[in-house]
Amino acid sequence: MSDTDTETFAFQAEIAQLLSLIINTFYSNKEIFLRELISNSSDALDKIRYKSLTDPSVLDSAKELMIKIIPDKDAGTLTIIDTGVGMTKADLINNLGTIARSGTKAFMEALQAGADISMIGQFGVGFYSSYLVSDKVQVISKSNDDEQFLWESSAGGSFTIRPDSSELLGRGTKIILYMKEDQIEYLEERKVKDIIKKHSQFIGYPIKLVLEKERDKEISDDEAEDEKKEDKEGESTEDKPKIEDLDDEEDENKKNKDKKKKKIKEKYIDEEELNKTKPIWTRNPDDVSQEDYAEFYKSLTNDWEDHLAVKHFSVEGQLEFRALLFCPKRAPFDLFENKKKRNNIKLYVRRVFIMDNCEDLIPEYLNFVKGVVDSEDLPLNISREMLQQNKILKVIRKNLVKKCIELFEEIMEDKENYKKFYEQFAKNIKLGIHEDSVNRNKIAEFLRFYSTSSGDDLSSLKEYVSRMKENQKDIYYITGESKENVCHSAFVERLTKRGLEVLLMVDPIDEYSVQQLKEYDGKKLVCVTKEGLELPEDEDEKEKFEEQKAAFEPLCKVMKDILDKKVEKVTVSNRLVSSPCCIVTSQYGWSANMERIMKAQALRDSSTMGYMAAKKHLEINPDRSIMKSLKTRVDSDKNDKSVKDLVMLLYETSLLSSGFTLEDPQVHGNRIHRMIKLGLGIEDDDVEMEATEAGDVPVVASTTEEDAGKMEEVD
Ligand code: ADP
Repeated sequence: MSDTDTETFAFQAEIAQLLSLIINTFYSNKEIFLRELISNSSDALDKIRYKSLTDPSVLDSAKELMIKIIPDKDAGTLTIIDTGVGMTKADLINNLGTIARSGTKAFMEALQAGADISMIGQFGVGFYSSYLVSDKVQVISKSNDDEQFLWESSAGGSFTIRPDSSELLGRGTKIILYMKEDQIEYLEERKVKDIIKKHSQFIGYPIKLVLEKERDKEISDDEAEDEKKEDKEGESTEDKPKIEDLDDEEDENKKNKDKKKKKIKEKYIDEEELNKTKPIWTRNPDDVSQEDYAEFYKSLTNDWEDHLAVKHFSVEGQLEFRALLFCPKRAPFDLFENKKKRNNIKLYVRRVFIMDNCEDLIPEYLNFVKGVVDSEDLPLNISREMLQQNKILKVIRKNLVKKCIELFEEIMEDKENYKKFYEQFAKNIKLGIHEDSVNRNKIAEFLRFYSTSSGDDLSSLKEYVSRMKENQKDIYYITGESKENVCHSAFVERLTKRGLEVLLMVDPIDEYSVQQLKEYDGKKLVCVTKEGLELPEDEDEKEKFEEQKAAFEPLCKVMKDILDKKVEKVTVSNRLVSSPCCIVTSQYGWSANMERIMKAQALRDSSTMGYMAAKKHLEINPDRSIMKSLKTRVDSDKNDKSVKDLVMLLYETSLLSSGFTLEDPQVHGNRIHRMIKLGLGIEDDDVEMEATEAGDVPVVASTTEEDAGKMEEVD
């Protein structure tokens, strides 16, 4: 190999930063590096196994699927070999240094925020943990699609790649860790065994610890002579014993006892399989301890924490399978990152691993549930394409969803636990309401919201219903940006004054899920910001309301004429207490909150904004003095010009307080300034100048036709 074959590459900046963080951070729990490397090997083995389902010849390059760990104290190295897919030259360059994943940065941020290095696997950068214990790392890899290459780096900003033919792998990856001087404890047999038992006992491929050991062997003199000769000729191989003469004294004694026999020490290679445990899901649940589940969960998911809850079950009858489902304690940092492939449910067929991230096994909203499914019925050589139409898989999927729901119900039995669960996975539950029409009613039991009477706690729909007033038919809710924002809104006023509870839905996804839910326990979910809100009323109230409606009818008409297309209609409200008016939206269009969410979505097709945009109704409060005196003014003179400006001002202010944004805030600002001047009694001598500067309109009190015309132009 000549130097010219060696190419040097710089690590991508974030990776270089991560490496120096790993090398320089004081951290004692370094043993996790082995778990990470074994997990990578296991993934690589999964990949080649999956390829072999449709093309068995891919295994020809190395038949046995396994992982070997070789500590070498003399050389100060720890070697991990797998017969997985291996990496091509390009893979080595991309995967180990030049292309940073989103997890690189996310992990560094998490570390700075106090996260533990052992979380590294969750962020998809586990390989770099090898630098916790080594100064230098070599990765030799052979993929079926390329020659064998050697990647090498002592960190420090760069790595090299060169062709390699030292010892051909056939297929797979060999990682040689040159241990730091103070980390040689990881070359001890006991230590390696302990770590593997702790972190990797449930890996689905044999992990073999390969050690050079010595043992006594009795051989005849003749054999000894032969062996000696061979040894001298340098033909001793791994399997043949090396002979070292025993010390003289012992040797003599032996000779005296038995002239023909000789005892020698031979070196031999010992291979011990470290993970012989039966797959945990095949065991009887009564025989599996919580610790076993936790260890299995951690090796399955790379999580550093135990799971929150587990469900271990088997289904028999028409179709047979066993499964283990786990609910994690925490949502991953990129739970809703689109297109990200997840290794959530691993599919096995009769104990043989088939594939992970099998999307057809579980619906998207349950994408945080982890586990394994082992089917007795599927064919071993099933491909991804075949799975999509497979009936057996559909039945498995249905069962998994059912069991997940049971799992959540179990979590719900403990209020504190459920709180933790909901903090992490509320979005998934709400997505479930949206997606899963079959189980919608069951999933509705998992929903929790703040309400006008729940204080700092979240309330379930069941709890809400139990608090409903006798004559209350519907469940009331409001959607909006934040709890504080909506609970003081004008819409909620009258309801709370009458002791009616309103659910506060402040998560953008609520807007979508509530539209699907529509009702709970036979009670309609009614949005208090939409038209046609009917509150339970007694006869007196109803009569009074009818009278007011009639009295304010003319004012409503005048206001509608002024506002024209800005609103669909102007009506008398029964929901307001202290606010003079508010904007409600029609039953089927968007709410103010939905309009806000949609506007915030960049790249949205603007044509949808047109027809879906909230259809606004202005509701006026007949009990407020502002409305009363406006009514008097209109009643005495239908054409009072100042009314126009006042109505616009009321409209714009209610837009704001009802959660909408203004099309043209400048015009609104100018209107307010004129009101301020009026309040301060300022003679409006600078009208001309303002009008030209800011495209302004004249003071509210002005009454000429010309002024009114200008105002219309501006709007
Ligand atoms: P990940 O979480 O994706 O495993 P790593 O930083 O540990 O992140 O590894 C980066 C990538 O390098 C892997 O996604 C894989 O493509 C490749 N890789 C690492 N180890 C091996 C291996 N033993 N065999 C084949 N490819 C590997």
